[in-house]
Amino acid sequence: MSGSRITNCHIHLFTAQHVPRNFPFAWTRVFRKDPSLILGLSWLARIAGRDEWADKLHRLYQFQQQGALPDEASVFADVAAHYPRNTRFIALPMDMRCIGHGEVPVSLREQHDALARLRSTRQARGAVIPFATVNPLVPGSVEECKRALTDLRFAGLKIYPRMGFAPDHPDLMEEIYPLVSDLNLPVMTHCSRGGVQGKRICNYRGDAFTRPKAYLPVLRRFPQMRICLAHFGGQDDWVDYAAAQPTRGNENWMVQIREMIGSGEFPNLWTDISYTMFHFQDLAPILKLILTGGSLEARRLRSRVLFGSDFYMTRQEELSERAVCIRLREKLGEELFWQLAETGPEVWLGERDEDKSLWTLQG
Ligand SMILES: [Zn+2]
Repeated sequence: MSGSRITNCHIHLFTAQHVPRNFPFAWTRVFRKDPSLILGLSWLARIAGRDEWADKLHRLYQFQQQGALPDEASVFADVAAHYPRNTRFIALPMDMRCIGHGEVPVSLREQHDALARLRSTRQARGAVIPFATVNPLVPGSVEECKRALTDLRFAGLKIYPRMGFAPDHPDLMEEIYPLVSDLNLPVMTHCSRGGVQGKRICNYRGDAFTRPKAYLPVLRRFPQMRICLAHFGGQDDWVDYAAAQPTRGNENWMVQIREMIGSGEFPNLWTDISYTMFHFQDLAPILKLILTGGSLEARRLRSRVLFGSDFYMTRQEELSERAVCIRLREKLGEELFWQLAETGPEVWLGERDEDKSLWTLQG
């Protein structure tokens, strides 16, 4: 067993400068201007005996404070402190302009440039792996994404269709994916019902853009491109799976992803466990169950799940990064943990070859 270097495939280093002014609601601007109001509310909830609300508000405050840090380097220092010194982190930007939540102080170009600068600092050298992003709703975004992939030599692509575009949007199909495939780079995409949604996008449309099956046209046109559906479908779908109850639209995205990978039809389809595993106690046993066993489906799935956390979104949760990572290692055992945290990420990033026999065998 190697077990020497974790790659956290999913973190965010943005600050309040990257978020639209009115996100998630216009009235939340009040809290951004004066975060101590949240603490005040938390205190009121505590004396009213509403401990659960008080805890939630306190975590919201932590989250807010994390976003209030001056720059990416400070956010990075916070996440790095939770992991062994040699850990690598894939930093995923987001372009939240033109989604109906107001202006974003920092442009995508500035965001990409800041990640490129961070990558070359002594503190982050070798540890920060920046991805480029694109939002086809924003004029000029496609060109900027291409610049980050070619001139800045970023290591992959991140997209976020829930903001309001389909994963097979023509700009992506004609301009971006062909370039990503030529460069042999991986793609990360947000695949859960939570997160950021365009203001005019109803849940029904948001789900239509996000569901695993929305990627079928992409998987068929670019079968060699390594696509990771982040969050393994998301906490809602995992919780509903555990309760044996139907999820919105009557499809469970965790099950969909598991079937799509298990079928062997899409050898370059991946998923990650970021954010979802922060509901550790309820959901980690399910993860362990579906990843173990000798069936061809389970073995395929095992080789296609990546470790990621979704820092600093996870500051809204009770457990810390370190707590989740250690619990995960204990729960999955050494071999499986290092598959998710080291071998898988290296294959997905295109750094390591793998034995392809799992994908040629018949189940
Ligand atoms: Zn994320």
